[in-house]
Amino acid sequence: MVGTVSIHPSVDHGIKPAAENFAGGTLQCKCANNPVEVTIKGQSAHNHACGCTKCWKPEGALFSIVAVVPRDNLSVTKNADKLHVVDPAATIQRHACKECGVHMYGRIENPKHPLYGFDFIHTELSRQGGWSPPEFAAFVSSIIEAGADPGQQGAVRARLRELGLEPYDCLSPPLMDFISTQVAKASGVLRA
Ligand SMILES: [Zn+2]
Ligand SMILES: [Zn+2]
Repeated sequence: MVGTVSIHPSVDHGIKPAAENFAGGTLQCKCANNPVEVTIKGQSAHNHACGCTKCWKPEGALFSIVAVVPRDNLSVTKNADKLHVVDPAATIQRHACKECGVHMYGRIENPKHPLYGFDFIHTELSRQGGWSPPEFAAFVSSIIEAGADPGQQGAVRARLRELGLEPYDCLSPPLMDFISTQVAKASGVLRA
């Protein structure tokens, strides 16, 4: 009964494809009054389900759905004063709404980090359809750390595969290769 495993409300009933020439849109937090608004220019990339314990996810979801955009394409356009950084010591600084708790974007401030220059966003916070769909599932084992039943992991991985989201226990091989390439260039092992 793999179909009974709920991964996340935005993928449980199938994954919608990206719109061609998608120009971007806005993300809103869950506040009924004066929601924080973030405007994104252009399409998202590397969208995926994430099982880590740090990414924001809606109540009851096993996974977060998180994508990246170039940081220069992201701006806070309404109610920026409601944002705070959840954990200033974390590698990814997650800017969340102080009232509703929703994470509006995550930013890496260390220029030496291999993923510096990318911001992390949750496209489900947008009313526009057409964002790049999730492509894989990352940190699947980590959902156990958030309280998921270890005995259900087989069913969870089977459901992810059924949805076309290949499960990995770190990031996907192309993203892990990208990170290692950045690290090798920074150390001089690989010539830039
Ligand atoms: Zn809010
Ligand atoms: Zn995560």
